[in-house]
Amino acid sequence: MAQLTQRRPENVAGNVYVDRTCIDCDTCRWMAPEVFQRVDHQSVVYHQPQTEAQHLRAMQALLSCPTASIGTVEKPEDIKTVQASFPIPITETVYHCGYHAETSFGAASYLIVRPEGNVLVDSPRFSVPLVNQLEALGGVRYLYLTHRDDVADHQKFHDRFGCDRLLHEDDITARTQGVEHRLAGTKPIDFADDLRIIPVPGHTKGHTVLLYQNTVLFSGDHVAWSDKLKHLYAFRGACWYSWDELIISMKNLADYDFEWVLPGHGRRHHASREEMRQSMQRCIEWMQKPDAPSGW
Ligand code: SF4
Repeated sequence: MAQLTQRRPENVAGNVYVDRTCIDCDTCRWMAPEVFQRVDHQSVVYHQPQTEAQHLRAMQALLSCPTASIGTVEKPEDIKTVQASFPIPITETVYHCGYHAETSFGAASYLIVRPEGNVLVDSPRFSVPLVNQLEALGGVRYLYLTHRDDVADHQKFHDRFGCDRLLHEDDITARTQGVEHRLAGTKPIDFADDLRIIPVPGHTKGHTVLLYQNTVLFSGDHVAWSDKLKHLYAFRGACWYSWDELIISMKNLADYDFEWVLPGHGRRHHASREEMRQSMQRCIEWMQKPDAPSGW
């Protein structure tokens, strides 16, 4: 729970505020950009929500904040309505789960609803209101984990839904020894007709990304959109395995066509296939310049 006594003085006056426990994960700023912004490496409220839509997005950010750093002076009366708005639709069959976990440093997770079995992409926080909403959408058949950092409450989701977990063997740690599918090698894996898993070593050795219906790329921490650079980019300052390998992986990924990039960290992006191709090329050029400006 956010504490009013810990309220950051940089917040604008009003009902919604951010306290000093913010870990600067960026979630609230992309979920409700008209309300939250960054000041001195933490978020603040710079504009109180004015419309119903702004209020809903601010309250969705409040529930998604991994550290419960967002609070309201007045108890929100409509919190059950806000809970019922999760997961949040992105396309007809793809949803943003919200409820980010601190153990994943606030990474986003997603749900794919499909007749052959729903796929949870990376693990959100195990929160009962979200779990009930996932149940109502058909539960979880598979829990696909892009890499070792964003596994959060994977065991609880497995225990609740009996889902099979997928993770590359090079990213398995003591916490994930029990995963049901250990992915291996560096070649793409056609897990189902609509699901292709592509190994992209770089951020971590066993990082993979998931291409759904040749349209939606769940990119984990491999690639994301930079509002600053205005093209896709990778996390040079948070590359745990090999930047050179990451560049090779990015070049291989550029052979694919997609319209959406849905990352764990960083901003999502939606564009035509041609625009996405161009943005991937700009990303690769940027990655090869050692003195290029940061994308963050
Ligand atoms: S979601 Fe929470 S932790 Fe993340 S930037 Fe916003 S206030 Fe900070």
